Amino acid sequence: MLSKCANPACFARFRYLRQGKIFKIERHTSSSEGRRKAGGRSIEHFWLCESCEKVLTVICEKGVVSTQPRPPVPAARVKRDEDEPDLGLAFHAGAGA
Ligand SMILES: [Zn+2]
Repeated sequence: MLSKCANPACFARFRYLRQGKIFKIERHTSSSEGRRKAGGRSIEHFWLCESCEKVLTVICEKGVVSTQPRPPVPAARVKRDEDEPDLGLAFHAGAGA
């Protein structure tokens, strides 16, 4: 099940846990028979490779698992290490001189 990337259009093969992202999808059995049982659900694991994980996410809709474009990450979180402290310094120097 975790042999390749969950993206059908991608053929990256699963090798290392630290690469990409593992999605734990809980599937509920929709049949009435499944509902009567206590364990009417199953957990499946899906893996997206490093490059697909950046743009896709794995969702489960009505028992069907598929990949979907990821909602955009807030800009503030993406540009965390690109903070420019010298902007403040320049302003300070300009105001002082
Ligand atoms: Zn992929």
